[in-house]
Amino acid sequence: MARRTKIVATLGPANGDARGIRGLIEAGVNVFRLNFSHGDASEHQERAQTIRDIAAETKTPIGILCDMQGPKIRIGSFVDSMKIDLQNGGLFCLDSTLALNGGTAERVHIEQPYIDDVKNHDRLLLDDGRIELNVIEKSATSLTCRVTSGGILSSKKGINKFGGGLSADALTDKDRSDIKIAAALNTDYLAISFVRSKSDVETARQLLKEAGSNAHVIAKIERAEAITEAFLPGIIEASDGLMVARGDLGVEIGDENLMAVQKQLIDDANHANRVVITATQMMESMINSPVPTRAEVFDVANAVLDGTDAVMLSAETAVGDYPIETVRAMARVIEGAEKYPLAQRSKHRIDETFQRIDESIALATMYVANHLEDVAAIICMTETGVTPLIMSRINSHMPIYAMAQKPATCAVTALYKGVIPIPFQTTALKPAEINPRAIAELVARNAVVEGDLVLITRGDIVNLEGGTNSLRIVRVEATNL
Ligand code: PGA
Ligand code: MN
Repeated sequence: MARRTKIVATLGPANGDARGIRGLIEAGVNVFRLNFSHGDASEHQERAQTIRDIAAETKTPIGILCDMQGPKIRIGSFVDSMKIDLQNGGLFCLDSTLALNGGTAERVHIEQPYIDDVKNHDRLLLDDGRIELNVIEKSATSLTCRVTSGGILSSKKGINKFGGGLSADALTDKDRSDIKIAAALNTDYLAISFVRSKSDVETARQLLKEAGSNAHVIAKIERAEAITEAFLPGIIEASDGLMVARGDLGVEIGDENLMAVQKQLIDDANHANRVVITATQMMESMINSPVPTRAEVFDVANAVLDGTDAVMLSAETAVGDYPIETVRAMARVIEGAEKYPLAQRSKHRIDETFQRIDESIALATMYVANHLEDVAAIICMTETGVTPLIMSRINSHMPIYAMAQKPATCAVTALYKGVIPIPFQTTALKPAEINPRAIAELVARNAVVEGDLVLITRGDIVNLEGGTNSLRIVRVEATNL
């Protein structure tokens, strides 16, 4: 059985060249993340081109996800790039009047607006929560804090407020110009960091449109506000997918609350026909180790059982010592988890009514796939990828072959769990030729043999957006072989 859950890998100095990218694709990466927190436009453009070239050459549809930096709030720098050692119980001051690079053992710069968002007794977390400060005295321009969890602090580390509420706009000026770069390099996905409400997603989509891009927008859920009833439904509705951005989210809501939130977000996304990526520290120890810890193995496996489309690697592949080993280990763990019967069963939307014809066909197909004997594959003729998206929300062991004319549709569907994109040109074919050709394509890939049943969905007019209105159940005949 082919792996269903997809792997997103971040490129960086450890692997951003052609050799690195080729190795990662061979190891099993489905989507590459270009992290706009690092690197410049020409570097991202070059990597995108290399990905497209190798994907074409190896005939492997691969997606590209450009991840915007967003308003990651950071402290200033320390004098001479020194590191300071904060002792438990000591005092440390965040001061907007201090020079940006004038940090000392006693104080460091932060921007004034964030001082305004903080009050006495707030808990501030630095460096992904490694350091914790308690605000004991706020003045107009500074926050004097007690160190409640000390450690080494270096320049420009991130800062979060426990419970959320540091009021930065989701789209910074840098993001706005990076969206143009992402559009120009023809990205498949655009991820927006620190989304607070649906208008952040709508603005990003508008900017993409203005730049001539139809990229799918992923909302990174990493602020306490974003998971509230007031904002989450709007964010899901406005976006094409979610990222459970566990790094910043865990700092803002407390890591003990992450497990339940991850499950809920994955459930919500699946229910709304949205794609979902589970991210951050999945294989963290493999940055320096050739094997994962047991805890990491379970983390990846549990995300699979939760129903995520993809699991993501950040520093593990971008700067780690074992990028290829990490992807291989992740793929192996996913395959193991997917053998577990619970991963193949579904009660998805069993008590619901549907509004759309393509949606009804997609769900009916999955019901047949999961219940009819001899079915070996689903072929889904798709223009935009919507039908395979809806199909893939349902747990199943059955491969969904998304056959699409457009390279962009193949690249987008590379992220969907259980979906195997296949470039397939139909324009030159007579209607009666389409199904036999599609089956022949699967025979050539050893995906089906004579006697197997294949489920084929398509519209009366193939390549019409939203036009899927039929399901055919076809037996593979000797003439297909
Ligand atoms: P980042 O987002 O890696 O861009 O910070 C992911 C996260 O916060 O988990
Ligand atoms: Mn983040």
